[in-house]
Amino acid sequence: MEEKVQFKAEIRQLLDILIHSLYTEREIFLRELVSNASDAINQFRFEQLTNKNVHDADAELAITLTVDSEKKTLTIQDSGIGMTADQLRENLGTIARSGARAFLDAAKERGEDASDIIGRFGVGFYSVFMVADEVRVTSRSMQPDAEAATWISNGGDEYTITSAEQAARGTKIEIQLKEDATEFAEFFKIRQIIKQHSDYVEFPIYVVKADAEDDDAEKAPVNQQTALWRKSPREVEAEDYKNFYQQLTFDFQEPRHTIHYVADAPVQLYSLLFIPNSAEPSMMSLRREDGLKLYNRKVLIQDYTKDLLPDYFRFIRGVVDSEDLPLNVSRESVQASPIIGKLKSTITKKILRELKSMAKDAEVYTPFWESMGIFLKEGVATDPEQVEKLLPLLRFKTTTETEAWTSLADYVARMPEGQDVVYYILGDDAQSIQRSPHLDYFRKNGYEVLLFSDPVDPFMTQNALEFEGKAFKNVASADTELPEANADAAAEDTANALEDASLAEVIARFKTHLGERVEDVRTTERLSDSPARLVDMEGAMNQEMQRMQRMMDKDYEVPKKILELNPSHAILKKVAELPASGELLSVMIDQVYENALLIEGLHPDPASMIARIQQLMQAASE
Ligand code: ADP
Repeated sequence: MEEKVQFKAEIRQLLDILIHSLYTEREIFLRELVSNASDAINQFRFEQLTNKNVHDADAELAITLTVDSEKKTLTIQDSGIGMTADQLRENLGTIARSGARAFLDAAKERGEDASDIIGRFGVGFYSVFMVADEVRVTSRSMQPDAEAATWISNGGDEYTITSAEQAARGTKIEIQLKEDATEFAEFFKIRQIIKQHSDYVEFPIYVVKADAEDDDAEKAPVNQQTALWRKSPREVEAEDYKNFYQQLTFDFQEPRHTIHYVADAPVQLYSLLFIPNSAEPSMMSLRREDGLKLYNRKVLIQDYTKDLLPDYFRFIRGVVDSEDLPLNVSRESVQASPIIGKLKSTITKKILRELKSMAKDAEVYTPFWESMGIFLKEGVATDPEQVEKLLPLLRFKTTTETEAWTSLADYVARMPEGQDVVYYILGDDAQSIQRSPHLDYFRKNGYEVLLFSDPVDPFMTQNALEFEGKAFKNVASADTELPEANADAAAEDTANALEDASLAEVIARFKTHLGERVEDVRTTERLSDSPARLVDMEGAMNQEMQRMQRMMDKDYEVPKKILELNPSHAILKKVAELPASGELLSVMIDQVYENALLIEGLHPDPASMIARIQQLMQAASE
């Protein structure tokens, strides 16, 4: 028997695209063929449950890949359910999967340039034509009386079906590789691709060389086969988790934390998630992107699935597998499935619970916080829904606790009586904000202030409005109400304060000299060690917003500020005493103002102050 059959129009189209495709990751064809082979074996196994009358009942359930680098061929053989001649015609002559059609539609929309969408659709069996000059599929169905048949195509208009001799049950696909695809006849290349894409296929996958002696003793499967995530957590050893993690990520280190989570409601899922030791991927890492591996009944659907986690959990690695995903999800854009949304919220909640329990033990949590804390702050900044769960996970340095990390609960527990808000200060780094004049009052009166010195912190404050009913307040903002003063400190300040008349003179001198550089000059009760500070006008854009603007637009100009003076400071007394026309007066005023700019991180050119500082040193030594 030999019969020539025309391909249906849509397959013709599909073949045209694939044959001429310049898609660079052509190796996905192997994943598709292996996954078909694994499906076929699964179907056989299922049939065998109820039907013992099958051909070649004792054949090992396995997939064998044979490479021949001389003939430039690759052969994939499985012992699955097999196909009759009619089934070959039916399955390989018409478009079987909706995914292939969806691919065609998308390709049509984009005109010629289909290369960049191939990887997003499982194009199935036909993807083999990206690498093949000719493909021969020889199959022997499991039906005892079926005859073997071969389907042959070179990707042209028609295919040929002939009868064939094949004793073994299952399907053998012989690929004559294109001249530019001979890498797929290389033993090590094929092994590597199998490891990467099909490691957890549950049947053994053997890779052999065509000329190798038949030596069963040396024949070991290339793939791991075990879907570790589907096992019961009780059955899995720590060592297994570690190996799995290292296989998955190529990280040399052990995972910092492992989450093996199996659930039935609200969505069925098996998941195995890891928090790596460090956020920086190792140099060897094969992972090119963030995201979890998504399996559907043990078959890999997508390597980097970003829709399963909120962005700020992108440091998490692992695998998610769900029975609730529709069977054809691999062929569709995964995002579109509503199950993905359910999986995401279930996984997110689980991770939050897990972090909460890690956070109980500082020894476990501190190293995690130090490498990944920034992501949780990002979560507060970007996910209003989870703010309440994320806030207790944050840790801070504070004005009084600069070594150990402080949680918001710790902070609240230490608050003196009468304090009912959480104070924070924004700055560029934890060390320099400690010197901020905005802290004078709080330090002097024994109030602890959280140091917010990460770039993400001003963004965070937009969503973090309160913790346990206590509002967050920026100490640098002029309208933040002051907590009660310590009576002794207040008395001391008043005693040292300048007379009203001299004070008016000092303010006038600053105003005249600084002119347009400031919005206003006034006194404040909030300073003790510092002579001056800069604050925003009422109604001006707040400091958080200004910082965000500066980060996003380097040409952004910070609005003019109000200079607030400390009436008890010795330097200001000096300013009051100096002769009005002297040069020293202007130099001192400039320096007081520019010091205040510097401590705010707003000085455009700190080195320009050196000449003036030298002038002051000279004056002091005269
Ligand atoms: P899909 O696998 O999504 O259905 P494919 O184009 O990859 O689409 O394959 C088309 C059909 O060919 C499959 O549905 C299956 O019935 C049949 N098939 C492909 N490969 C094999 C195989 N190795 N063994 C048995 N049947 C196969």
